[in-house]
Parts: sequence; structure tokens; C-alpha cells
Amino acid sequence: MSEYETHVKPLYDRDGNLHGVLLSPEIWEKAGKKISEILDQAQDKQPTSEIHQEPIEDWETFKDYWDFKYPFNPGVTCNACGAKSENWEEDTPRVFHLKNASLSGLLVFHCEKCGSTVRKKHFKDHVCLEATKPSGESCEPECIYPE
Ligand SMILES: [Zn+2]
Repeated sequence: MSEYETHVKPLYDRDGNLHGVLLSPEIWEKAGKKISEILDQAQDKQPTSEIHQEPIEDWETFKDYWDFKYPFNPGVTCNACGAKSENWEEDTPRVFHLKNASLSGLLVFHCEKCGSTVRKKHFKDHVCLEATKPSGESCEPECIYPE
């Protein structure tokens, strides 16, 4: 048995299909941290860099300076494909990515499901949701009048 084989053992099920790979404690000690990072990356469909590009500071400012007449609501709906989120920041995996947040009341999201651009416009007493499909076609805007 080679050095490599003592530390890295492929495990086969009874039909001879690879079931997994067993790592020795010694090799895990040495390489576990690096391997974990690679595994995390392999499982993460959305590169973290993309998430970091979200204007989260603008979003925080937007929430901090909330002065509309109705309560703040973090929900987003895509009228192009029907994707819906009660709180876009907390979805796993995320359905909406923030592209722009402006103190004037405009939030721009990217819908991961259909690729549309979703705009959530906050007015004094109502909110309008608009979606533009990747083809450039605009969907019927939806306006909500909170109580
Ligand atoms: Zn969509």
C-alpha cells in the first residue's frame, strides 16, 4: 500500500460504484481546512464575489432613512415569472439580488429565476413593482396600497 493509499481511500458499495472517499485523520489535519474551502466553493452556486457586489450599504441607508407612511416591507415579487420572497435577504438560495438601492425609494433587483430586472418603487402612500424581462419586454406593473 502506498503512502497515498493509506491516507486517501476510495470506498465502493457492493455493486462496485464509488460511494465516497475516506481521508485519514493525518491528512485531514494537514489539508482539511483547505479542502473545506474548496468544498464550500464547489457547493456555492453563486460566487460570493457577486453577492459582495450588492450595494448593501445603500440598502442599509435606505432602511435607516425610511420615512414613508407605511411600514417597511422587505418582500419582493417578480411579475415576469411569479417568483416571490417575503424577505429577499433571507432566501436560501437567494431568489433576488439587489442591484441598486436609492434613497428616493427605488430598489432594483435581479430575479435569479428568470433573469428579469425587478423594480420596487416606493411612493408616499403606495409601492409599485415592475419587471422587465431579459428580452426587454415590460410586464404589467403591480401597485400595492398598504393600509
Ligand atoms: Zn422572475
